[in-house]
Amino acid sequence: MEDALPAAPAPWLAGLNPPQREAVETLDGPLLVLSGAGTGKTRVLTARLALLLAAKRAWPSQILAVTFTNRAAHEMRERVEALIGQMSAGLWLGTFHALGLRILRRHPELAGLKPSFSILDADDQERLLKQVLAEADVDAKHWPARQLSAIVQRWKDKGWRPDQVPAGEAEYFAAGRAPALYKAYQERLAVLNAVDFGDLLLHNLTIFQRAPEVLERYQEQFRYILVDEYQDTNIAQYLWLRLLAQHRRNICCVGDDDQSIYGWRGAEVGNILRFENDFEGAKIVRLEQNYRSTGNILGAASGLIANNHGRLGKTLWTTREDSRPLVVHTVPDGEAEARLVGAEIETLQHAGIGLGQIAVLVRASFQTRAFEERFVTLGLNYRVIGGPRFYERREARDAIAYLRAVLFPEDDLAFERIVNLPKRGIGDATLQPLRRLARAEQIPLGQAARRLVETEELRVNARNTLASFCRSIDGWRARLEREPHADLANAILEESGYREMWRKNKAPDGPGRLENLEELVQQIARFDSLEDFLEHVALVMEVEGGSEMESVSLMTLHGAKGLEFDIVFLPGWEEGLFPHQRAMDENGLAGLEEERRLAYVGLTRARRHVVVSSALCRMVAGRWLTPFPSRFIDELPDEHVERHMEEMFGRAPAWRYGAGDGRVINAPAWEVKPREDRAGQFEVGQRVFHRKFGYGTVCAIDHHKLTVEFETSGSKTLVDSFVEPA
Ligand code: ATP
Ligand code: MG
Repeated sequence: MEDALPAAPAPWLAGLNPPQREAVETLDGPLLVLSGAGTGKTRVLTARLALLLAAKRAWPSQILAVTFTNRAAHEMRERVEALIGQMSAGLWLGTFHALGLRILRRHPELAGLKPSFSILDADDQERLLKQVLAEADVDAKHWPARQLSAIVQRWKDKGWRPDQVPAGEAEYFAAGRAPALYKAYQERLAVLNAVDFGDLLLHNLTIFQRAPEVLERYQEQFRYILVDEYQDTNIAQYLWLRLLAQHRRNICCVGDDDQSIYGWRGAEVGNILRFENDFEGAKIVRLEQNYRSTGNILGAASGLIANNHGRLGKTLWTTREDSRPLVVHTVPDGEAEARLVGAEIETLQHAGIGLGQIAVLVRASFQTRAFEERFVTLGLNYRVIGGPRFYERREARDAIAYLRAVLFPEDDLAFERIVNLPKRGIGDATLQPLRRLARAEQIPLGQAARRLVETEELRVNARNTLASFCRSIDGWRARLEREPHADLANAILEESGYREMWRKNKAPDGPGRLENLEELVQQIARFDSLEDFLEHVALVMEVEGGSEMESVSLMTLHGAKGLEFDIVFLPGWEEGLFPHQRAMDENGLAGLEEERRLAYVGLTRARRHVVVSSALCRMVAGRWLTPFPSRFIDELPDEHVERHMEEMFGRAPAWRYGAGDGRVINAPAWEVKPREDRAGQFEVGQRVFHRKFGYGTVCAIDHHKLTVEFETSGSKTLVDSFVEPA
C-alpha cells in the first residue's frame, strides 16, 4: 500500500500554491487548515482525497470525508473522479447525517433498534412530542412542542442522552420537566422503531461506547479522515470525529472561524481552537491568498468582519484585478427591491453572464417570495435551493406516509396520518380506543387495529372500515416482493383513493398537487427500492435543480456556505431583518457577531460583483415596517463601496425624518399607485405576444396570471400586463 508519492506534477497538485501543497501532501498525522474564505480549503481537501487514492495510501472504503451538504459531497466526488480518472466507489463521503446513518444501519440492534427503522423529519418529530406532552399532562399551549423540540435537539447536538442531561438544564420549561419529557420521547421513538436526525450521531456515540470492539473496527478501517467546514461542527459531531480518529490520528480538518454561522444550532467554534490540544503535535497550515474574489469584495468583507471581537484574525490578499466597487442600493420597499434585482439580472444576462453564475442570498426564507414572483413575471429561470422543498409539500408527505405505513409496520405516525385520508369515517371515536390499546399492549397502531376489529369494541361501520383499511395495507405489503416498486407506489395512490381525493378537490391547487404526485412516482422509479427512495427523502437537504436549464439561485445565506458565484445579490440589509432581531434578542452580542459572520459569508460568495440592497419600508407578516438600514452597510469601508439611493417621488427617505423606529405606518404612497389592470382582457385560446417569448396561445387564466403555450419557448406562466393581444 505505502507506495512512494507519484512524481509531480500530478493533476491534483497542479496550480496549488506552496502552503496549499503542503496541506495536501502532509498526509500523516493531525492537520488543521485554518484560513479565510476562498483560499482553497475545499480545493485542498479534494486534492488530498485524490492524492490518497492515486498514491494508494488507502482504498476508497478506508477514507472518511465529511462535507456540509449532500450537494457538496456530490461535487467533491465528481472532482476527485475528474482528477484521478477512476471511480471512487466505496468512499465514505457525505454529511455527518448520511455517514452516521450508514453506520447505524449496520448495527441497529446496538442502539435498541430493529433493522427497518424509519427516520422522522421535523414535522413528525413535533407531532410525536405533542403526544408526549399530552400524555404527561403538560399544557402544550403554554409549553409548545416546538420549543421542546429545540431543547431536545440542542441536547442531542451536545451528545447528551436523557440520562446524561446535567441537572438544572432547561428548568424554565414545564417546571423543569424537560429532561423527563426527553426520556419519554426517546422511549416512544424506540417503540416506533424510529429515529430523528439528532439521533443519527447520538446512537453512533452510544454504539461506540457500548461496543468498543465496533469502534475499534471503524478506527482501524478509516485510515484517513477529512472534514470540511470544521468551524460549524457541534459537540456530538466533534465527539464522533474524535473517537474515530483517535487510533490512527490521520485527521485533516479545514475551516474558518469567521464563517462559523451555526452557533444557534449548537455549533461550537471552540472545536477549531481546541484542535491542537486534542491532537498533540497537530500541524497548522494557514492559507492567505484568496482566489475567488476581487480586491473590492475582499476589502469590503474584511472591513466588515473586523468589527467582530474574539477572532483569530487573518490577512487575506488577492491578485484578482479589480472591477467595480460593491454597490449598495436603497429602495422604497420589498417589491421595488425585487424589481431592481430582476432588472439588474436581465442586464447581466444581456452582457453574457449565465444565470447559473448569479445568486440572490436572503437572510430569511420569506424573502424569496418577492423575487420568485418577479422572476416568474420576467421569465427568468430560477431555483430555490434548500427552500420549501418538494418533499415537504402536503401531497408528497401524505404519499410518503402511505409508503412508510406499508413498508414499516411499526411506523405509527405514518399510520395515523393516512388512516383517515381520504376521509373514511375513522374519526376520534375509533382512534381513541385504538391508541389506548396500542399503549396498553405496547404494540404498533397497525397491530392494535387488527386486534380491535376482532372485538365488539367499535361500532359496526367503523369496524368494517378499519378492517378493510388494514386489509389494503396488508395487500400492498404482500405485493412489495412481486411488483416493481414504482408501479406499486402508483397503485397505492390510486387504490387508497388518495389521488381521487385531489381529483375531486375543486380548489385551484388541486391539479398542481396531482402533478406533484406524478412527479413523485417518477422520482421513485429512479431508485432501486422504496427503502432507498425513503432514505433519500429523509436525507435530502436541498432540492436538486428541477430543470436542466441554467437558472438564478435563490437561497438563504446559511445555505450558501462553501458556494461561489460571479454575481451575488444581498437584499434586505435592514436592522431587524439582517442582523436578525431574534438572533440579537436571544444571544445579544454573540448573536450579533454571528449575524456579522453570516454577512461575511454572503459577501465572500462572490467572484466579481456584489449588490447589497436595503428597503425603507418592508411588509413583514402583513404589516408595514420602516426599519433602519443595516449597521452592516455602515461597516462596509467607503473605498470599496458605491452607494445609490433610488429616486422616490422627490421625497427624502422616511427614516431621515425619524420614522425609522420600526413602528408600523400606513402603506407608502408608491404602493397604492393603481397598477395597469388588464384582468378580463384575455381569454383561453387567445393568441398573444410577449416581447421575449414571442407568439403563443393562452391556455389557462388565474386572476392576473396567464399560462401561455409559446410557439418557440414552450409553456410559461406570466403576469398579464406583460403580454399583448396578438
Ligand atoms: P470557503 O471558505 O468559502 O469554503 P474555500 O477556502 O473552501 O472557500 P475554495 O472553494 O476551495 O475555497 O476555493 C475558492 C476558489 O478558488 C475556487 O474557485 C477554487 O477553484 C479557486 N482556487 C483555489 N486554489 C487555487 C489555486 N491554487 N489556483 C487557482 N485557483 C484556486
Ligand atoms: Mg470551502
